[in-house]
Amino acid sequence: MHPFSQFDRHNRLQHLITLEGLSSDQICDLLDRAEHYVRGPGQIPARSQALDGITVGNIFTEPSTRTRSSFELAARRLGGEVINLEIMLSSRVKGETILDTIYTLQAMAVDVFVIRDAEPGVGQFVATHVDDHVSVLSAGEAHLSHPTQGLLDALTIRQHKGSFADQVVAVVGDIRHSRVARSAYQVFRALNVGELRIVAPDGLMPDAGEMPGAVRFDTLEKGIAGADVIMMLRIQKERMQDAAIPEQSDYFARWGLTKNRLKLAKPNAIVMHPGPMNRDVEIASEVADGPQSVILKQVANGVAIRMAVLETVVANRKARQSSP
Ligand code: ASP
Repeated sequence: MHPFSQFDRHNRLQHLITLEGLSSDQICDLLDRAEHYVRGPGQIPARSQALDGITVGNIFTEPSTRTRSSFELAARRLGGEVINLEIMLSSRVKGETILDTIYTLQAMAVDVFVIRDAEPGVGQFVATHVDDHVSVLSAGEAHLSHPTQGLLDALTIRQHKGSFADQVVAVVGDIRHSRVARSAYQVFRALNVGELRIVAPDGLMPDAGEMPGAVRFDTLEKGIAGADVIMMLRIQKERMQDAAIPEQSDYFARWGLTKNRLKLAKPNAIVMHPGPMNRDVEIASEVADGPQSVILKQVANGVAIRMAVLETVVANRKARQSSP
């Protein structure tokens, strides 16, 4: 075991478990790299051989559609191999057996582990035990972080708005249980977003000390007034006690983003959602499918961001191996 750091001894990214601690330059490098891989709808996807000879192991123990498939497509489009494993890591995180699994896969030359788990700490634990040439990437850690989602959200805003400093960004909904919101908070703070708002009903707001610097709003109307970017979030029922789950129609009545409410934001505001969406719970279909929605653009950017992250950690590995 070695101490946890996302950076190798040359201070290059080796693992990506959280966006906390990444500088604005490091984030912008990843966004710039991703931009090379962005293609418009109907265009042939970008490809390269940056992962030639590399094997990526997707280990997902929570459901995923977008993240798992986009990591897989990203690895394949970079010429890498992919295996998808459905093994429970978290239930064994305190024992040694998790390491047996990881060491077994490492012996089969799995070089990058992409891990999603409902329990905190799994990615970091694995990262402290793998060999020097191996990378661990989080694909979602409990309610805590979802770094590639944060990066793809930043890329989407940059494409539509150009800069961050003059933007009012409102993150709305179940922020308390959302790893997407936490990674968004970290990336937007690092990139110096003009005004970051967190907008949620009482029970879905994070604790008072969390997310310093974000401005809190307790109604949707006030929270999105004059906003440039609105990020809607799903209620994370799987992380809540039944009694605390709001009734869907009540929630939509007060917290659903409708076409009328959207008029309170700037006329050119963009609407984001990480998916999966609950139509007519947190977002009306007419907004989700409307002209201000960039939700499918986020999905497309997800592949480009994951290509950028995979390419970066593999290039850094090669640099480490050539100058130890
Ligand atoms: N897909 C995102 C996540 O894994 C958002 C969500 O599930 O609501 O956190």
